[in-house]
Amino acid sequence: MHRSKKIYSAVALTAAAALTLSACGGGDSGNGDGGDSDTVRIGIKYDQPGLGYADGGDYTGFDVDVAKYVANELGYSEDQIEWVEAPSANRENMLQNNQVDMIFATYSITDARKESVDFAGPYFTAGQDLLVRADDDSINGPQDLDGKNLCSVTGSTSAENVRDEVEGVNLVEQSGYADCVTMLGSGGVDAVTTDDIILAGLASTDANQGQFRVVGNTFSEERYGVGLPKGSDKCEDINAAIEKMVEDGAWEEAVTSNTEGADYSYNTDWNPPTPDETCGS
Ligand code: GLU
Repeated sequence: MHRSKKIYSAVALTAAAALTLSACGGGDSGNGDGGDSDTVRIGIKYDQPGLGYADGGDYTGFDVDVAKYVANELGYSEDQIEWVEAPSANRENMLQNNQVDMIFATYSITDARKESVDFAGPYFTAGQDLLVRADDDSINGPQDLDGKNLCSVTGSTSAENVRDEVEGVNLVEQSGYADCVTMLGSGGVDAVTTDDIILAGLASTDANQGQFRVVGNTFSEERYGVGLPKGSDKCEDINAAIEKMVEDGAWEEAVTSNTEGADYSYNTDWNPPTPDETCGS
């Protein structure tokens, strides 16, 4: 599988290792996940306000704040971070093809994903919810979706949960949640589904304010992990960094500042979670 890609990346790796050697005067080139180079490539969402959002050259949101904190603990300053867009459907591939070193992108830890990537974390726990038009009081949970058009994103647990658990609904898939919200606004679908914190962020932008309602009836538990290439040697250090972020108050500050003005209060039973993913297992 992907034989030519493998060969290509082996060549690239050799070149990168040579560069590292000449720049740093020696040392182990590591396992190829970028740990010894002078930048770190971090995958985030670009279209999820309050979580991962790109506006010109500005990157903001809770995922971005956690990523910056963790990168700093790993020895990378902010200007050594190279942000890369990581849409839901591409995340495993991007890690497997060495396009990014880490992913902080509302990325739920699941057993299926663990077959191809590693996870550190979790650093947040969200729950799947529904977003409807503000004047629609007919949809208040998955039980009200029979015969409705529901938008979610390809490659997400949100779409998968709907396929597995919600009967009679017509699932429409887009590549990002912002596109789903546009469809909801124009009447193309009746509801959007994904994690509550994502929906709250999208509903609270200047352009969307007052138009939508987060139903507030979660039906899954989504533990956000830091996606890593299989065999990464950074996992334990990332868990230690997350623990430190919680202890020193920066985690709470990041949640609060990024959910300000959003119709969302994070679940205090679930958060902050203990970053107890057993690295590499
Ligand atoms: N947390 C879910 C997932 O990882 C939904 C959000 C997303 O697509 O990023 O699939």
